[in-house]
Amino acid sequence: MNILILGSGGREHALAWALRQNPKCDRLIVAPGNAGIAGLAETAALDIMDAAKVVAFCEANAIDFVVIGPEAPLSVGVADATRAAGILTFGPSAKAAQLEVSKGFTKEICDACGAPTAAWARFNEADAARAYIREKGAPIVVKADGLAAGKGVIVAMTLEEALGAIDDMFGGEFGTAGAEVVIEEFMAGEEASFFILTDGVNMLPIGTAQDHKRVGEGDTGPNTGGMGAYSPAPVLTPAIQQQALEEIVLPTIREMARRGTPYQGVLYAGLMIENGRARLVEYNARFGDPETQVLMMRLGGQALDLLLACAEGRLDQARANWADDHAITVVMAAQGYPGAYVKGSVIGGLDQLSEDSCHMVFHAGTSLKDGQITASGGRVLNVTARGATLAEARDAAYQMIGGIAWPEGFCRKDIGWRAL
Ligand code: ATP
Repeated sequence: MNILILGSGGREHALAWALRQNPKCDRLIVAPGNAGIAGLAETAALDIMDAAKVVAFCEANAIDFVVIGPEAPLSVGVADATRAAGILTFGPSAKAAQLEVSKGFTKEICDACGAPTAAWARFNEADAARAYIREKGAPIVVKADGLAAGKGVIVAMTLEEALGAIDDMFGGEFGTAGAEVVIEEFMAGEEASFFILTDGVNMLPIGTAQDHKRVGEGDTGPNTGGMGAYSPAPVLTPAIQQQALEEIVLPTIREMARRGTPYQGVLYAGLMIENGRARLVEYNARFGDPETQVLMMRLGGQALDLLLACAEGRLDQARANWADDHAITVVMAAQGYPGAYVKGSVIGGLDQLSEDSCHMVFHAGTSLKDGQITASGGRVLNVTARGATLAEARDAAYQMIGGIAWPEGFCRKDIGWRAL
């Protein structure tokens, strides 16, 4: 079959790498893709936010199956458009993607179906928000309701910080995303991610992961899009996974279906685990980046069968086969990230690395210039390895990094420390 993946990051490189391994995959196009993806699939310039252009592209290229990577095209209804055009699609409708797009919406769903999450309130004006914060006290969490690229959440340890966040959000710092603000109880505990495929009725868990959001070693310094991840997440024990499925995920799926907006795609549940129980922090409507890199390394080519079963509504017949293994990905970023960073530096040594089913460098922000791979983003490479133990996987990943000649880049040296 002919497959189109939308997106251009490490997540899409990992998806392309896994799907390519399945004999059902004939032609694989990634739009817009990146320099690493170009090594294993066709890439195409396409405005993936323009639903009509995506449909026309699919028709012109006889695409049988579309896999939508990032949340932005989901939020503007690209999956609705491709499905309406009769193209098999992996990814939720715009209405179902509200689970990621609006934090207040997700909280309402949790209340409606009884899913455990932090106590919350929603405000569209500053004075009432300030009064609520003063009443509840710190620590407290202030969130812009809409999408703000991971920057719209302030975990405030003091009252001053929380009130300052209200000034910023209603002052327009996050544009329309901050026109409404959700204020939440602070949840203590350890965070982990749980990935579940659902066709709207059936669900299939496809793995757990933990990531490192802070730029500095020991989980210090400013937040980033993620500096590394590993799978499985030991904190998500089988018992906690079961509790999360029964109390959070399945009730959510049923509530979405009850409202006439069934959720079809991957539900990425961010969970907070404390005293042996999970509570929901957030949902994302797409695969995580960089968590997908470790999930895909562990799933390999069967990922295509699972995504197809999800899109075709027959997840009740699907099953994921797991090796008892571990995968880790270490992000290499451009010096300066997550602040200002330099673009265009040349990355050497990549062609000398031997890549196989246990060792891959997934590209996030790279371009090809005059035959050389150059850095074109903040997060640039995802060096990913698999092993019988997490320590083995970690050692393999850092050994690969030792072979990459990129003085303008850096990585954290302690990815996986919590689980190790
Ligand atoms: P991202 O896109 O970076 O995943 P986001 O903008 O979608 O983030 P959330 O995931 O809701 O926002 O929050 C970001 C982070 O803030 C969480 O991963 C968690 O560490 C912290 N956080 C959010 N809500 C709470 C809470 N109620 N208690 C404690 N920490 C929280």
